[in-house]
Amino acid sequence: MHLEQLLEKTFGYRSFRLGQKEIVEDVIKGRDVLAMLPTGGGKSLCYQLPGYVLRGSVLIVSPLVSLMEDQVQQLRTRGEKRVIALNSFLANDVRQAALADLRRFRFIYASPEILQSPKWFAALKKAGVSLFVVDEAHCISQWGHDFRPDFLKLGDIRKKLGTPPCLALTATAPPEVIDDIVATLGLTNVRRHIYPVDRPNIAIKVECVMSVEEKIERLIHYVKTLQGPGVIYVSSRQWAEVLARKLQAEGIDKTAYYHGGMDAEQRMLVQQQFLRDQLQLVCCTNAFGMGVNKGNIRYVIHFHMPGQMEAYVQEIGRAGRDGKNSIAILLYTHGDEDMVQSLIETELPTKEQIQLFIEHMAFSHTAESSAAQLLPSMLGLSETQWRMLSYIFEKERSSLRGLEHMQANMLQMIEERREWKRNKLNEMRAWLFRSLCRREQIVSYFHQRLSEKPVACCDVCGLTLENYRKQLQSDDEAAWTFHSWREELKRMFFKAGKLDEKAD
Ligand SMILES: [Zn+2]
Repeated sequence: MHLEQLLEKTFGYRSFRLGQKEIVEDVIKGRDVLAMLPTGGGKSLCYQLPGYVLRGSVLIVSPLVSLMEDQVQQLRTRGEKRVIALNSFLANDVRQAALADLRRFRFIYASPEILQSPKWFAALKKAGVSLFVVDEAHCISQWGHDFRPDFLKLGDIRKKLGTPPCLALTATAPPEVIDDIVATLGLTNVRRHIYPVDRPNIAIKVECVMSVEEKIERLIHYVKTLQGPGVIYVSSRQWAEVLARKLQAEGIDKTAYYHGGMDAEQRMLVQQQFLRDQLQLVCCTNAFGMGVNKGNIRYVIHFHMPGQMEAYVQEIGRAGRDGKNSIAILLYTHGDEDMVQSLIETELPTKEQIQLFIEHMAFSHTAESSAAQLLPSMLGLSETQWRMLSYIFEKERSSLRGLEHMQANMLQMIEERREWKRNKLNEMRAWLFRSLCRREQIVSYFHQRLSEKPVACCDVCGLTLENYRKQLQSDDEAAWTFHSWREELKRMFFKAGKLDEKAD
């Protein structure tokens, strides 16, 4: 069967999107592949289609449980039953059955942490992995914006699994991060498929205002006039809640907030309601996004600037996945960068915290003791800080050069990271204030070239908002209000009744 036939039969698509076919062909040939596709470019198809050609299971390592669950759900909706996500939420019987026989699954999703478990690892080894996929592979690089130390162990894990062919996927990685991914995963003779980061259907606008009050006014104006659905990014949990309430008070309903401080159920609910168009607007921190596969987001507004270009590109990339015109607006007021700067500072552990951490470790000798889950809060460390220090600790432990040496090394590495983050922020600032085409600047940041500028490019090139204004509501949109399930049913029957009348 031709790949196109398989594509239509299994996924219902008539043709491949940019780059997909070339990537799939190399993966099926058993080559190591690094693929950078723009956000929303259909990365998952690059391993899902080969899953129907290759013998043996496809293992997909993914950084987020919600992201995995979302992918599993999508595959099941397509009728694929042989799919599982290995995580701590598995029911006991499912877990036991899976441990006994993983081979019957075509797609196995797993977090890097769960691969550390000897039981799961043994089950995977027995099953035979035909393709080792690393999703969001920039998490591997300590210079990637979502650095996850656990991802660094993936090279070893792959080796222990018998070095199956590897597909590393990312949407936003500058060349140095790509080199890091290739080295860490030990990819040999790797085929690099790097596609343009530019998304021509997203217009880019930066607007400088005089004060925070004015920023809120502008935000309300945009939300009232722009065609939704929309996403508003802020830099803190408090702001997400404050803005959502402000907008609700302005009569903008179907608005919710989303951040990492909410419990999993609440977050899932908001995500689902947004996906189903029951919500029109989400005010959120960067916790929202990965795994939100929604085609019709028409605008993304940054109420606060992100700390680096990679994050910005990833966040605006959630708009317009259906290919239709969309807009990204960043609102800036003097002093916003100070907020980012202080976030950077609080994210990194202090000298005192490092000292405490080392003193503790000197006695327990390992970052993975039984009480490990309680330790971060006992030592006053955030999860990120804990991960970072544990990573350096594990790395340095073998050098046997004493605690003092380790502490000095930790301080130096933290300092390097601070410096690196400052540089990233400076690059972001430069982008804001340079009077050059915003799109061209983004593309050149990723060492790429813009082949063609869209008509609706950016505020520097000239941009009218006319095309992004709210359209008259269609019937479907008018039905966006919340109903109880009774009302919902009544409404559906009523609609059906109307159709019948017409047919008569
Ligand atoms: Zn431009």
